[in-house]
Amino acid sequence: RGAARAGAGRAAAAPLSMKVENIGRELYDQKLKDKYEKLDLGGQIFAEYVWLGGRAAQMVDGVPVCMDPLDIRSKTKVLSSAPKSVADLPLWNYDGSSTEQAPGTDSEVMLKPQAIFKDPFRGGNNILVLCDTYTPAGTPLPSNMRYPAAQIFDKHKDLVPWFGIEQEYTLLGLDGHPLGWPKQGYPAPQGPYYCGNGATRIYGRELAEAHAAACLYAGIKLSGVNAEVMMSQWEYQVGPCEGIESGDHIWMSRYIMSRMSEEYGIKVSLDVKPMPGEWNGAGCHTNFSTKPMREEGGYEIIKKVMENFAKKHEEHIKVYGFDNDKRLTGACETAPITKFSWGVANRGASVRIPRTTEAENKGYFEDRRPGSNICPYAVTLKIMETSLV
Ligand code: ADP
Ligand code: MN
Ligand code: MN
Ligand code: MN
Ligand code: MN
Repeated sequence: RGAARAGAGRAAAAPLSMKVENIGRELYDQKLKDKYEKLDLGGQIFAEYVWLGGRAAQMVDGVPVCMDPLDIRSKTKVLSSAPKSVADLPLWNYDGSSTEQAPGTDSEVMLKPQAIFKDPFRGGNNILVLCDTYTPAGTPLPSNMRYPAAQIFDKHKDLVPWFGIEQEYTLLGLDGHPLGWPKQGYPAPQGPYYCGNGATRIYGRELAEAHAAACLYAGIKLSGVNAEVMMSQWEYQVGPCEGIESGDHIWMSRYIMSRMSEEYGIKVSLDVKPMPGEWNGAGCHTNFSTKPMREEGGYEIIKKVMENFAKKHEEHIKVYGFDNDKRLTGACETAPITKFSWGVANRGASVRIPRTTEAENKGYFEDRRPGSNICPYAVTLKIMETSLV
């Protein structure tokens, strides 16, 4: 299959043909990896501390904007034994002057462990530790959107807020060209790619599926995967997650994707409009409900909440993704960025109410405006805040 693709001279040929030529090398690398993974570390484990760099949420006119949804950093800490919970994990620090988060003269940023995942890269008892960031005096950094989000979710635990986020992304060769796209010109128009199959339609499935398995192993509440409307665009869903867990799981799923991108030699893009023109952009549709919305008569609450949403449209759009105006044009299954709208089963509205929610008079709604490059802490915070009626 790889050789046939290389022969056809498609864009994916570079990484895939390299793979074919290097099969002997790959087996050798695997043997080396196994050898060192099997070493007895005497009960010690590796904890990969993961945190968000300064470009994951940068203040623009007083609003936190995610300028780089893959600005995720990590470093390894050796622990003498596996922790039972985050309470067992030590605080740590890093050089914030290297991540646009502190001046060189006072460079320390504190890392506070918040969530533990199993490490799908090292296996065994090794873990990934999602942290948030503070000054040495204990003040959350301006880029630490987890902090205010966790506060509002703590305060409204009784509402049991659920989020399901649909993370769309695009796979590119290392040259930045989408997998499968001809070097010159364009693939056949959109239509056959969405949930499609076949060697001339689908590119990158090996990574999309391996990522799903790695996430489930890690403990991320990934709930599905599908090929998207634009060739070499994909989606996975995370949720339902309760409150702050949604942002935690999306950020960790992105980290895992980015690490796998190293292994596969495939570039991952979270750009909202990777290809200009009649090619679908990439979103992070955010599905939301509270306990009262899920109970009898919940649709009435959702309708009230929609009135709040209409009033806050511009405020929401500010944190709904960098360059999102290039995606929310009114074409390609989007509503125009300038105007809020909602409708039952309408994929051309800002918010879609599922048909079942109307029929059963309870359920959830889907905010279709967030772009693929959002900070999910900032967006889930906004949705929660606007849903308090
Ligand atoms: P779409 O039809 O828009 O492609 P998906 O199936 O991709 O929808 O994603 C729907 C998401 O909504 C999933 O993550 C799912 O877990 C989540 N979801 C389902 N029910 C609820 C609910 N009551 N509240 C919040 N999220 C929900
Ligand atoms: Mn050093
Ligand atoms: Mn979907
Ligand atoms: Mn989608
Ligand atoms: Mn959707």
